Amino acid sequence: MSVTEISPEWLRANPLPPLPDAASKDERGRVLVVGGAAEVPGAVLLAATSALRAGAGKMQVATVASAAPGLALAMPEARVIALKETAEGGIAPAAAPRLSEAAARADAIAFGPGMLDAEEAGALARALLTKLRGEPGILLDAAAVCGLEPDSAGRHAGRLVLTPHAGEMAQLLDRPREELEAEPLEAAREAARRFRAVVVMKGGVSFVATPQGLAFSCARGNVGLATSGSGDTLAGAITGLMARGAPPLLATLWGVFIHAVAGERLARRIGPVGYLARELPGEFPGILAEMD
Ligand code: AMP
Ligand code: MG
Repeated sequence: MSVTEISPEWLRANPLPPLPDAASKDERGRVLVVGGAAEVPGAVLLAATSALRAGAGKMQVATVASAAPGLALAMPEARVIALKETAEGGIAPAAAPRLSEAAARADAIAFGPGMLDAEEAGALARALLTKLRGEPGILLDAAAVCGLEPDSAGRHAGRLVLTPHAGEMAQLLDRPREELEAEPLEAAREAARRFRAVVVMKGGVSFVATPQGLAFSCARGNVGLATSGSGDTLAGAITGLMARGAPPLLATLWGVFIHAVAGERLARRIGPVGYLARELPGEFPGILAEMD
């Protein structure tokens, strides 16, 4: 089966929906980022910044209560929702109703950046997916991918994006990591079929698969992208593009591309390794403008 390389030519032939000059911030798209833990308070900041840099209009971030005040100061653009926290510093199950309320106001949701406990994240993701009204685009990343099961994913078929790296994919599919790393495209295809989602199998080369059997690859970027927080910026970029009105597959392909090209630009300016994940989002607007 054929695999399409995500190229500037392909993307220009499949453009993002235009933003009308007169659009309001609500029309530019409302994002909700859910995640974080007491020990990883910054992942949601990276994802949320990325979503705004990808062009979304409005931002809500829901994170553990202990991290919320610091986050609100670090990100004055966001409305910050403080969630009930477990003794271990994760998001408590009792936060589910508050999350559903915030989700009802979102056009796109990123769930999982900075979450550490797969069981906790999986249970919350299931609760959110089960109760969710409306039709937002939903991206699950990090620990929130690991505990997903097909039933709650299937309710949102056509709106769901999963962005696991090999370790998370191993937990999602319950298969050995080495086996999946040997055949990353097949792993993406299997997950896409089973969870009826657009799936990115992240790695040095990333593969994207859809439940309908389409497949894409991206060999752009560089080893500098293998750095803490890098995946959080990818999650934010894809979510921001969905909030702007791009369908999940298109948002994913554009997101994977601008993330990789951002790494290339930083590698040229700063050096091949040692640039920071927090520097990636600042590259997105220029890359998007050049693709116009
Ligand atoms: P995460 O592991 O969740 O932080 O995600 C890492 C991100 O960096 C993913 O988008 C990967 O595809 C990308 N990445 C990791 N290693 C490389 C590499 N050697 N070359 C290019 N991209 C990479
Ligand atoms: Mg990650």
